[in-house]
Amino acid sequence: MAASFGFDWQDARIRAELSRNMHGRPIGLFLNAACCVATASVAIFSSDIAMLRWSCTALVLLAAVRVLLAYGASEIVGPLGRLCRKLYSISALTFAGVIGIAAAISMAASASTHLQVLLVGYAMTQGAAVAVGNAGRPLIAMGQMLLTFVPICAVCFTIGTLPLVVLGLILPSLAAGLAFITFNAFATLSRQVRAASESAELARQMREQARTDPVTNLLNRPGFEAAAQELIDGAAPDRQFALFWLDLRRFKEVNDMLGHHTGDLVLAEVARRLRARQPDGSLCARFGSDEFLLLASLPSQRDMEQLASQLCADLAMPLRIDGLRIEGGASIGIATMGPDAPDLDRLMQHAGLALYHAKVAGRNQACFFNVTMTRNLARRKEIETELRGAIQRDELSIYFQPILDLSTGRIRKFEALVRWFHPTKGELSPAEFIPVAEETGLIITLGNWITRTAARACANWPEEVTLAVNLSPVQISAPGAALGILAALREARLDPSRLELEVTESLFIEDKPETALFIEQLQAVGVHFALDDFGTGYSSLHYINKYPFSTIKVDRSFVSGPNTGKRSEAIIRAVAEMGATLGMEIVAEGLETAEQVDAVRRAGCTLGQGYHFSRAVPEHLALRLLEDERGALKMAKLAS
Ligand code: C2E
Ligand code: MG
Ligand code: MG
Repeated sequence: MAASFGFDWQDARIRAELSRNMHGRPIGLFLNAACCVATASVAIFSSDIAMLRWSCTALVLLAAVRVLLAYGASEIVGPLGRLCRKLYSISALTFAGVIGIAAAISMAASASTHLQVLLVGYAMTQGAAVAVGNAGRPLIAMGQMLLTFVPICAVCFTIGTLPLVVLGLILPSLAAGLAFITFNAFATLSRQVRAASESAELARQMREQARTDPVTNLLNRPGFEAAAQELIDGAAPDRQFALFWLDLRRFKEVNDMLGHHTGDLVLAEVARRLRARQPDGSLCARFGSDEFLLLASLPSQRDMEQLASQLCADLAMPLRIDGLRIEGGASIGIATMGPDAPDLDRLMQHAGLALYHAKVAGRNQACFFNVTMTRNLARRKEIETELRGAIQRDELSIYFQPILDLSTGRIRKFEALVRWFHPTKGELSPAEFIPVAEETGLIITLGNWITRTAARACANWPEEVTLAVNLSPVQISAPGAALGILAALREARLDPSRLELEVTESLFIEDKPETALFIEQLQAVGVHFALDDFGTGYSSLHYINKYPFSTIKVDRSFVSGPNTGKRSEAIIRAVAEMGATLGMEIVAEGLETAEQVDAVRRAGCTLGQGYHFSRAVPEHLALRLLEDERGALKMAKLAS
């Protein structure tokens, strides 16, 4: 029967919804109770048949109990509500049975004809009413009809008069018709409930999809923002939230070189590692192409530091994707909620700034936000906008610092050092604006301009004096980097062997193929390379062996400053010995006193640079230094 009406008896969801509908509309029950009280009262007061009066009194009591149970079933949740619903069903059946019995007694005990009509009529209307009103629970409705009609039918056949026999025959067919209506109504109702719940489920799935990143199954940006807001709003005011903003290293390269499929697998693996590490109750999201967010409630700074270092370690582990080993790593910026970051917006701003600093600090670094970062950022932003026009406005110049031969005291080369004389901020240090130029990509234009200008200056110096130009790793990665250098040399008509390019160890942290190609192309035409600031970075002997450096510049922290002493002397000596064996020049940077010059000379350095000899000077003064030197030499020759 159920199948033919197209619904599922077992569908608890539908049953619950229909019964909720029924309990949710108690007005019909009140009316019914009122009718019942009116009918039963008439019987109690107008008849002296004891059984009839008892059954009608029971009806009035049952009507009152049902009203209370209906209230409990719709208003009370939990076990008591469930008990009310169960008792309500039992009372419905009992009530129907007592109505049938009362009507049957009135007929069997020959109550007044009008009272019989009232009770039988009420019983039949009741049967018809439950057929529709209780369609949400068709079995109970059937039970109610049977319990009402069976006693009346039984009395009809017992008395056996023709009208009552006919009534006894009509009642079952009426019940069959009503049953049909009940099941039809139930089928229609359940189809509607199912359709409504399916579309609600679909809407929920679509909402979920709109909030999920399909590659990693983590929350996406809008999903994170909504969920994070919910989490923060719902938390106790003393809960401490920390936001970890992670940026994968070299992901763009993986995507470009190995394809998007591999890129997606890398992201999915990173998401898996993040999920495995995320604290209970925290949120994880993918934000942008290779950035991830983790919002967690952590009680102390120690917990945050511990989580940050665990995440760094997890993500630094190489990934195995499609049989390939891919080097991982991530930078992490961390910020906490507090008086200066009271909302999610500010928290994200702070974590973003901290991430930026973590990236600058190098690979696999985690960095906590502090307020100076906001000030630095404002200054960097100013520098960034002003640097763009600085070349055109002629605010930049190239200065030259001589590098001398420590045995003859003669100038062997000049290092080109860029200077920015800002109209309002005064002289800005390259240590401040070069990193900004690197981040914005401006270093490529700026670097080409520096090489061209410096090469033109060098073309005016004697043949044996060469030029050293600093190159940033960003310049080397740019397409056509070597061509830019060659064009500058051609333009200045400078022999490539008179140019030395200074690179720092940071260039080799990431072993990029472009680096090797750049060095190879320029070395082939005679350009020299120097390893600058040696001793401040990784100081690996691997790339000294791999690349053809003609010069190593020992950083000035080994020569002057608080940390110099026997140990740094020993290091300089070791580097100098290695240089001598490999045929390299060793420059000591930052020589400020005659004693330092003596010391590095004794240690075996061949060249020296520093304020003791000269600061970086403008081009015309560099020429003057060379002329003075030549004049002094002539004088010396004449004197001898
Ligand atoms: P660097 O290449 O190691 O340059 C040497 C720095 O040490 C220069 O600072 C120079 O003025 C300073 N110096 C030289 N002798 C002494 C000394 O005796 N004592 C002290 N205390 N300092 C000394 P500067 O010009 O401020 O440049 C800083 C850094 O900025 C450079 O370090 C270099 O990495 C970068 N830089 C400068 N000019 C350029 C450029 O044209 N292109 C690129 N890519 N970077 C540049
Ligand atoms: Mg340098
Ligand atoms: Mg240096």
